[in-house]
Amino acid sequence: MLRSVILAASRSSQVERLVATAPYTRDVVRRFVAGATTDDALRATRELVDNGLAVTLDHLGEDTVTPEQAIATRDEYLKVLKMLGGAGLTPPAEVSVKLSALGQMFDEQLAYDNARAICTAADAAGTTVTLDMEDHTTTDSTLEVLSRLRKDFPSTGAVLQAYLRRTESDCRELSSAGSRVRLCKGAYKEPESVAYQSAREVDKSYVRCLNILMSGDGYPMLATHDPRMIAIGEDRARWFDRGPERFEFQMLYGIRPEEQTRLAGEGYTVRTYVPYGDEWYGYLMRRLAERPANLVFFGRALISKK
Ligand SMILES: Cc1cc2nc3c(=O)[nH]c(=O)nc-3n(C[C@H](O)[C@H](O)[C@H](O)COP(=O)(O)OP(=O)(O)OC[C@H]3O[C@@H](n4cnc5c(N)ncnc54)[C@H](O)[C@@H]3O)c2cc1C
Repeated sequence: MLRSVILAASRSSQVERLVATAPYTRDVVRRFVAGATTDDALRATRELVDNGLAVTLDHLGEDTVTPEQAIATRDEYLKVLKMLGGAGLTPPAEVSVKLSALGQMFDEQLAYDNARAICTAADAAGTTVTLDMEDHTTTDSTLEVLSRLRKDFPSTGAVLQAYLRRTESDCRELSSAGSRVRLCKGAYKEPESVAYQSAREVDKSYVRCLNILMSGDGYPMLATHDPRMIAIGEDRARWFDRGPERFEFQMLYGIRPEEQTRLAGEGYTVRTYVPYGDEWYGYLMRRLAERPANLVFFGRALISKK
């Protein structure tokens, strides 16, 4: 219920104005977002890499409505990739891209062209790209763009969401050799017709999908903060004899940072998803919807006199 309300608010420009102008919002944002600028993104990447973590950088922004915005997003990715390469951070840093930020909502070909330019820049910088997955109305289009990109850039990563009923079948499709697949639970409000609604059902689906990916030939990227899913991932890694070069864990910036360094210390590859930029509202609201404790933290920061 609370999750639905927050996810509905994530689409409301009135609530956005209210949240953006609240006195201590910035303090909360800073916990989950590396900063507004490309330099902030680089600084956070350097710090994480120095702590033994890999990184995927996400320039915040989604639901782009004009070609100019889409091109500006593309250009920011070209810039950050060049800087990452110049700073010797590729690998271990890659980028995550939302096709909706590249024009998918009004011109799929434009989104593909922009994503292709980003893949070309990533390739030149010695790294790769993962296409984030958004709400279910975009899944087919995103997987179609992914398969076109993979013809020239086979390491382009996909994201599959365990809450969708279709995902087990998508995991089978995408578990072939060289296929990088991030498995997450899913962060959007979805109808029962397409998505499991209870946490228990989503968790069970996550484990079924994890089993398919870990027993397949691809490169699974287990994106979760859930201790039970992480333990199952560790168990399957032992069972299927997958070393740190054959799968990875992923977590979000600011969430369970000690667990991230603990896993990396155990020898696992752990990648932190690092968002940066000004358009943090939708991202922040999805994080709040996931965890009431984040909401308490947020509420406290909003009313706090410091
Ligand atoms: C790297 C990465 C990339 C992602 N990319 C996408 C994407 O492209 N598309 C998409 O729809 N979603 C994406 N997500 C979000 C994802 O779908 C989930 O909404 C989000 O990760 C929450 O699910 P969870 O598996 O972490 O566990 P949840 O089910 O939210 O929580 C399960 C348990 O994990 C622990 N936990 C969770 N959060 C915290 C916390 N803040 N502090 C301490 N313990 C905590 C608690 O024990 C909790 O009970 C991504 C997530 C990650 C980590």
